[in-house]
Amino acid sequence: MGWRLENSYGQLPGFFYTKVEPTKVSEPKMVIFNRSLAAELGLDVDPSAMDSSATTEWAERCAGNVLPIGAEPLAQAYAGHQFGHFTMLGDGRAILLGEQMTPAGARFDIQLKGSGRTPYSRRGDGKAALGPMLREYIISEAMHALGIPTTRSLAVVTSGEVVYRETELPGAVLTRVASSHLRVGTFEYAAAWGGAERVRELADYAMARHYSEVIEREPGEQRYAAFLRAVMERQATLIAQWQAVGFVHGVMNTDNMAISGETIDYGPCAFMDTYKMSTVFSSIDSHGRYAYGNQPKIAAWNLARLAEALLPILATEEEQALALANAVIGEFPDLFREKWLAAMCNKLGLSGREQTDESLVEDLLGLMETHYADYTNTFCELTTGRHKQALFETEAFASWRNRWQARLEQQNESHDVIQERMKHANPVVIARNHRVEEALAAATDDDDLSVLHRLLDAIANPFDYSEQNRYAGDPYFTEPSASVRPYRTFCGT
Ligand code: AMP
Ligand code: MG
Repeated sequence: MGWRLENSYGQLPGFFYTKVEPTKVSEPKMVIFNRSLAAELGLDVDPSAMDSSATTEWAERCAGNVLPIGAEPLAQAYAGHQFGHFTMLGDGRAILLGEQMTPAGARFDIQLKGSGRTPYSRRGDGKAALGPMLREYIISEAMHALGIPTTRSLAVVTSGEVVYRETELPGAVLTRVASSHLRVGTFEYAAAWGGAERVRELADYAMARHYSEVIEREPGEQRYAAFLRAVMERQATLIAQWQAVGFVHGVMNTDNMAISGETIDYGPCAFMDTYKMSTVFSSIDSHGRYAYGNQPKIAAWNLARLAEALLPILATEEEQALALANAVIGEFPDLFREKWLAAMCNKLGLSGREQTDESLVEDLLGLMETHYADYTNTFCELTTGRHKQALFETEAFASWRNRWQARLEQQNESHDVIQERMKHANPVVIARNHRVEEALAAATDDDDLSVLHRLLDAIANPFDYSEQNRYAGDPYFTEPSASVRPYRTFCGT
């Protein structure tokens, strides 16, 4: 089958996990399997041999009924700040099978999500419903196609069992692939219940796995502050990328922030249509804590929690540790701003950096918000010059456009060079929330996977502006939701 599993996490002290096997399910059935990801992982999936018996075999495996050779299943312990409140959490419905060593030499966690109860389940059933697992599959693959660091999805299987939420729903298991599942919350857990020694073990493990360049640069005791800064740098880059494509994560609790810098835990997440800083998709986020416009601030808040957890190992003197932590975290706003501005300037085709660029970007965003412009389409239409939205009819836009054109002229670049830059920064097709909802409804209510497959196909090449991309001009994929329902829709787990 191509499994080459290692279990480095299971070699950490037992404090960090509990060994537990997935719960067997009655009737696993493959819903969707990611063959290109399987190939990257070095798994033997001969497309011509993916007949019904092979599919059944993979379904058994992805449901946790059959364990791959070398798997040493465990549930990870972690804590986290959920909507600002600290609690003990852990994998309540997920089990890490092991770490696949790929032909390219990379290490990826293979995790089953929705695979039954664990000692961390609290009052939960340990299960997952089909819709939310398919949402995670779609959005994580969309993010990957956009070039944004993310966990990925190998498969979704239905379990043949019913899960009870507000209604009865088909149960499902997602096979998640991640650089690791180390979270800010894993450090909070170590600090709260393990003490300095556990925090140090975890930090050394995380650095060996994700930040070897930091250890090489800073082998001494300074390395933990350097580690904190490196995590912050990756998060600043990540959140800038989210903002640039209009992605709203929805639950940026500290347990949902990965140390690797990947986007993780796709719950009530979505790409926004109309540009609005206060956009929220989660039905439980009633105060808009995790609104689109708050994401950078929340990232900084979460990183401050990581810094706190690292305090005992940052320096021997508490005051010195605090000063170090504050110095690092204090850099976040400028660091983020720089990365965000670079991403936004790219979207406008700008090269180099001028003093006026920031206001050029901000003023466009202001106009977009005033005129209810669609986020994705605005940048697409600026790229192609085919202006369709009301925003483009306004005098305010005409004067903004003059400033933009004047700025571009200073670059001494051809129109083609500028347009190419924009095409690589502005997706022409995204996984719009109303289309995601349709795909999930068809799969869940009607057993119809065709809507899902078409959506996955459409979002696989988001920067393809060519005539051959039949989805690029297809109103089904490019028009924002026509309904006037409020933004706060339910798309939870
Ligand atoms: P999430 O909102 O998915 O990030 O999950 C937050 C916490 O709740 C994690 O510790 C999950 O493992 C746990 N959890 C979520 N859903 C369930 C469930 N159905 N059964 C048990 N634990 C769950
Ligand atoms: Mg989570």
